[in-house]
Amino acid sequence: MALVLAVGPAELSAQAFTTTRLADGFDYPVGKPNGDGYYIFRGFSQNGHLGEDWNGNGGGDTDEGDPVYSIAHGVVVFSEDYKRGWGNVVIIRHAYRESNGQIAFVDSLYGHLKVRSVQLGQQVTRGQVVGTIGCGPYRMYAAHLHFEIRKDLRVGMRRELYPRTYQTYHVPKQFTDARRTLRYEDRLVRVPINTFLKSNSNPNRIEVDEVNPPELTSTATEPQTVRPEVPPAVEMVIEEETQPTAATPEKAKTFLELLREKLANPQ
Ligand SMILES: [Zn+2]
Repeated sequence: MALVLAVGPAELSAQAFTTTRLADGFDYPVGKPNGDGYYIFRGFSQNGHLGEDWNGNGGGDTDEGDPVYSIAHGVVVFSEDYKRGWGNVVIIRHAYRESNGQIAFVDSLYGHLKVRSVQLGQQVTRGQVVGTIGCGPYRMYAAHLHFEIRKDLRVGMRRELYPRTYQTYHVPKQFTDARRTLRYEDRLVRVPINTFLKSNSNPNRIEVDEVNPPELTSTATEPQTVRPEVPPAVEMVIEEETQPTAATPEKAKTFLELLREKLANPQ
């Protein structure tokens, strides 16, 4: 049986996990691995453009159909034609070790793709093609890649529900430049999955063997990580250093608290 989140307004009552390879570094999503032949046409801005638009040096639609690569090892947590202003979107979840030794997670998002070449739940490696550069739905844009890196694993396609700030997002180039090469560790780590609210057309849930959920924090003021009980087959990949709550500090907040913050901080 697949474990799914019972989604109350904003609280996760259970958490499902899968495993993925720890990232050994991060590359650029086009012009593998250094972005050669491409430039950032439009950069990241808080409360503005929440990612980077990458264009081919040739201009216009000359980059249409060019390969788009996974920036690091990871697992596909979203792959859909989301339509609206987005078109084909792929989101990949990565686990990596921060300089302080802790394992952290990010989602990389690749938007306006012409085609998607990976599917939900698929494991991908650094430099693997995940799709090609496109023009978005109805060819509404000049060909480019819209690229984001999120720290908050809950965002998915619901950007309007989360702060459009550094609290939620990394500046992609800055994040990547600081982590081009990470110490090689050939191992799998546990990553939380099914953290998004509903997607456009389907539940978009990754099916995994059941894992007993961790007791999440009892109070918002005293965050603590509690290890889940796991089947023996999964146990070997559980990382002592992994603290899912550290990657999503907002998790402990209640819907009302978030609403209160939003009201206090109208955008
Ligand atoms: Zn964009």
